[in-house]
Amino acid sequence: MNYDHILIRFGELSTKGRNRKQFVQRLSFNILEKIKDFPKVAIEKSRDRMFIKLNGEPHEQILDRLQSIFGIHSFSLAVKTKTELEEMKNGALFALEALPYKGKTFKVTAKRAYKNFELDTNGLNHAIGSHLLRNTEDLTVNVKQPDINVRVEVREDATYITCKDIPGAGGLPVGTSGTGVLMLSGGIDSPVAGYLAMKRGIRLEVVHFFSPPYTSERAKQKVVELTERLTDFGHSINLHIVPFTDIQVAIQKQVPENYTMTSTRRFMLKIADKICEKEQGLAIITGESLGQVASQTLQSMSTINEVTSTPIIRPLITMDKIEIMDIAKHIDTLEISNRPYEDCCTIFTPSAPKTKPKKEKINFYESFFDIDKMVNDAVDRTEKLLITGKKQEEDSVINDLF
Ligand code: ATP
Ligand code: MG
Repeated sequence: MNYDHILIRFGELSTKGRNRKQFVQRLSFNILEKIKDFPKVAIEKSRDRMFIKLNGEPHEQILDRLQSIFGIHSFSLAVKTKTELEEMKNGALFALEALPYKGKTFKVTAKRAYKNFELDTNGLNHAIGSHLLRNTEDLTVNVKQPDINVRVEVREDATYITCKDIPGAGGLPVGTSGTGVLMLSGGIDSPVAGYLAMKRGIRLEVVHFFSPPYTSERAKQKVVELTERLTDFGHSINLHIVPFTDIQVAIQKQVPENYTMTSTRRFMLKIADKICEKEQGLAIITGESLGQVASQTLQSMSTINEVTSTPIIRPLITMDKIEIMDIAKHIDTLEISNRPYEDCCTIFTPSAPKTKPKKEKINFYESFFDIDKMVNDAVDRTEKLLITGKKQEEDSVINDLF
């Protein structure tokens, strides 16, 4: 007997009705992708659970990686036994005694997916609980707040016993909601927006606007690293680096200073939209938060948004900076975002951008441009990098997961 399985619980996924099968399939694919350097593991899927058979692979790193996979509600190391009462009792005792820590109190929570088992859940709790009491010292039962909850999941083919739940990342498996284009600057907000979009199952294509020589290779490197961080939550990501200098210089020449920011944003959005179409995306994601800066007033957003009918997802729209920074810390992007760099917008930022830019005005100023040509030209010269993420040796093994 051994802790040689990991039991995975789905949470929200379980309510997905007819789509469930596809969701479970995607989750299993995402898990296998994430732990592909442990080739011996095997996955078994059922309606409401997934089981990873470790086959001798180390559990610490695998548990660690599971924590950042969306679509998982919680997971636990598990002991697998036959669905026979004696085996279950022994399995539960083993599971409890093999824990690296000791508790003073416990309870047994049986759950029967296999309804024909000879005992009902009360009977099972009682039978297994008294076996544990008889065979351990200094342990008592506490039903309300036990130190250890011995969960016994009875299925027809096997029973799984777990003693500790590890919270999963929640959300939906990345890829189940289709593709979206994330506009990623080097700032604090947009990586957080990307993370939250991935959490709801969106597969990302990332777009960054780069204005050499006004922005340096260092600024680009920052965006590469931020994208690398995002791959941790899902998959390899295409990073589209759009050369934006020509357009910014043209705007600078043509548009009155207090409208340059509005025009810049509109061009960015048009280009992102083109890339979205090329990559068969269905939405554009930005790190905008209402009222944060001049371009993020409702009036500004409405004037900028006018250039596309593609849905724009703004996961941070109602969040305060502090809330956004908390998430940035949690996903380890804050430190990268905080590094000093020149953003293409800081350099060309007017001293007093319009907070209420008017559509008629900006349309008039932009009427002197050959917009389609400028957009197509930038898209044609876009560099596409495949970011696969930092390699897995860098896993921070968390020791108290067991
Ligand atoms: P961030 O912290 O994400 O840079 P911000 O608060 O600085 O956001 P802005 O600079 O006004 O806000 O940008 C608003 C949004 O526009 C960003 O969240 C991002 O989605 C997009 N954006 C801005 N600059 C760029 C860029 N150089 N490349 C790609 N997207 C950008
Ligand atoms: Mg910014």
